[in-house]
Amino acid sequence: MCDVPYTILPARTKTALLFVCDHAGNALPEGAGTLGLEPARLREHIAYDIGAREATLALAEAYGAAGVLARYSRLYIDLNRSEDDPTLVMRLSDGRIIPANAAIDDVEMERRIREVYRPYHAAIAERIDGLIAQAVVPVLISVHSFTPSWKGQSRPWQVGVLWDKDERLARPLLAAFRAQGLVTGDNEPYSGALHGDTMWQHGTRRGLPHVLIEMRQDLVASPEAARAFALSLKPALDGALKAMGPPQVRCSTSGPVTQEVKTMDQATTNEIEAAVFRRLVAHLQSRTDVQNIDLMNLAGFCRNCLGDWYREAAVQKGIVLAKDEARGLVYGMDPAEWKRRHQKEASPEAVAKFAAANTPGEGSH
Ligand SMILES: [Zn+2]
Repeated sequence: MCDVPYTILPARTKTALLFVCDHAGNALPEGAGTLGLEPARLREHIAYDIGAREATLALAEAYGAAGVLARYSRLYIDLNRSEDDPTLVMRLSDGRIIPANAAIDDVEMERRIREVYRPYHAAIAERIDGLIAQAVVPVLISVHSFTPSWKGQSRPWQVGVLWDKDERLARPLLAAFRAQGLVTGDNEPYSGALHGDTMWQHGTRRGLPHVLIEMRQDLVASPEAARAFALSLKPALDGALKAMGPPQVRCSTSGPVTQEVKTMDQATTNEIEAAVFRRLVAHLQSRTDVQNIDLMNLAGFCRNCLGDWYREAAVQKGIVLAKDEARGLVYGMDPAEWKRRHQKEASPEAVAKFAAANTPGEGSH
């Protein structure tokens, strides 16, 4: 099992922007070694997008926005691909064999997907869901970098704007980069229309405004240069965001799931789940004959556990509740008061069963 496969830069302000960087890292999980490559190869473009991490951090920090940055090399698994893309794990890169990938079997492929790919995309989705829950329509900015030449051809563009079906941010950004005097590729050096890539998964499919910015690597070769270059793009991005206007969810005509449906589904799901929780709590409040110790013995949880779970979920949202405050929400009164009113003397059998099932120090119920 490898470590968390991404880095999160938390948001400092309430902004719609969310920065993602699929090719930020060139690390490899412990146990993967160097994938059989010369270590020096892992510092080259085949392993990651040089300068992209620093550029992403600089922009996200400048906006006070959240960022999700990949930790591991694209050679381990390419996060900017669909799960069924044949290049998800590259067997060859720049014409060279990646030894540990060349003979990858299904088990190893599934492991990389499970341990690295899915957690990364779940982290992005979680941030998007978080913004939507605050009634903010997220705007996704993906940051990449490209080599100055490819197969002997030099690439003239200093930056590229990659997009697929959603022109809302791409068009004004293209115009703004060009107005700034940058040689700007429109879906160059790559097409933004790769089905299943990160912007498709989180932008196109969910109807959220998004754009992918490519930077030429000679302009972002050192961390300092990357930060400075990224910040030099900010005025253009500011202008493009302004030109786009307030972000809105767009119903996709081609995707299988439209954001409107999906957002409503998620919100509705949350409401239904909350209604079930309230009913459970109401039920427990009315059934004062049901004793916590019997719940514990039978099912391994009780009113106190529910209160503690509530408290833990609140902490996840940055809300700190006192233990009895949270438990009181479940009891419908102060826990001590409930105990006084409704808690019966436990039978010796119940006490013995509880003691046998609960080792000391696991917390009080
Ligand atoms: Zn990239």
